[in-house]
Amino acid sequence: MIDFAYTDNQLMVRDMAREVAGKVVIPSITEFDRTQKMNPELLPAMAEANLLGFCIPEQYGGLGMDYISLGLASEEMEYGDTAARVILSVHIGLYSLPILTWANEAQRRKYLTPAAKGEKIGTFGLTEPAAGSDVVGLQSTAVKEGDHYVLNGEKMWISLADVADYFLVFAWTDLEKKRNRDHSGLSAFIVERDWEGLTTASIHGKLGVRAGNTGSISFQDVEVPAENLVYEEGQGFKIAMFCLDQGRYTVAAGSCGLIKACRDACVKYSFERKTFTKHIAEHQLVKQMIANMEGGYEYATNLWLKAGWLKNQGKRSTRATSLAKWIACREAEESSANAVQVFGAYGFSDEYPVERFYRNSKGASIYEGTREVHTLMQADYVLGLREDKELERDLPVVEQ
Ligand SMILES: Cc1cc2nc3c(=O)[nH]c(=O)nc-3n(C[C@H](O)[C@H](O)[C@H](O)COP(=O)(O)OP(=O)(O)OC[C@H]3O[C@@H](n4cnc5c(N)ncnc54)[C@H](O)[C@@H]3O)c2cc1C
Repeated sequence: MIDFAYTDNQLMVRDMAREVAGKVVIPSITEFDRTQKMNPELLPAMAEANLLGFCIPEQYGGLGMDYISLGLASEEMEYGDTAARVILSVHIGLYSLPILTWANEAQRRKYLTPAAKGEKIGTFGLTEPAAGSDVVGLQSTAVKEGDHYVLNGEKMWISLADVADYFLVFAWTDLEKKRNRDHSGLSAFIVERDWEGLTTASIHGKLGVRAGNTGSISFQDVEVPAENLVYEEGQGFKIAMFCLDQGRYTVAAGSCGLIKACRDACVKYSFERKTFTKHIAEHQLVKQMIANMEGGYEYATNLWLKAGWLKNQGKRSTRATSLAKWIACREAEESSANAVQVFGAYGFSDEYPVERFYRNSKGASIYEGTREVHTLMQADYVLGLREDKELERDLPVVEQ
């Protein structure tokens, strides 16, 4: 049976996110985007509204909400600004849900509960200066010495790098496998900000997500206790791919929020602006751009809902999530380019929000798997060159 109605809990989460986006993000976003700073009130407001852990089980400090709630919250936050949605993608998608799934009980108590309560912020460090899509090209190493690993390397383009307390980091523990580019030599670790040898720096001058923090992390002989290895040595690649399955899902749903923001801005403007004695809403080519936004929104929404439905049942959803992310980002790029077009010269100015939507839409076709990576994945699924196998780890099943 297919049921398109949201539950009361899902609507409650959506409304919490809508309220934070409406009260904390939207009123000041132009200024924070211009100055390339994160709004210092945003994380506390999200924590206060339980938005930093709502889909983590109650036993670890969350509210036990489901994946559809996560999608709806992502959409609402990105309706405000992409940088606000990125917080959900990173802190929940790329950090908390993977810790819930792959970490042991002691690690969950120590590193998940404070994150779910919004007391600590987590992020995900995979990308390096010379390796993004090509994960096995990364250079970081974690060499075991007695009861700890010595971590060395550089991470680049890490969301919340200057803000996070905990880092889920990927490094080679098997140097022979590193030489052979065999991903079964990669491992995952939880690293704390205060540990000696760890430094971070922010990146400025980004095209988009300017109101969000993105930066680099340097590890110089950081001593990581052996108990901070996540799951087992050699499982890092699998864990990283699992992280991306959750993060991509929030990018897909968030991109729908961006499309909706474009649509709503265009609807309003097209009844304000007149050309040739008519509101531009009456010109068929303007109508077409707005209609395409509506089509893109519905198309992409149905895809992330399907991925969320699979996730709620604890089913592997890599194929559905990749498809949802690929299509949603494509539609968001097209919608935001058309939104600038609908606004004419005013779309070219930050007096109106659509130029920010346009710049922000580009990032999502790069992070969490580039457009090309998802194109190749989808082709490989169809060609029978790739399939989703069940993971040996139980995926969380959530009540809807
Ligand atoms: C705003 C922002 C936030 C980010 N946050 C994080 C984060 O929190 N944590 C993290 O670890 N990373 C993060 N990233 C990094 C992001 O995940 C990488 O940028 C992404 O994986 C792409 O890697 P790259 O930039 O090195 O591009 P490359 O991998 O160098 O790719 C360059 C180009 O080549 C294409 N290409 C590469 N390989 C192939 C191939 N086999 N076939 C066809 N085309 C190919 C790509 O699609 C792209 O067009 C972030 C990036 C941005 C912009």
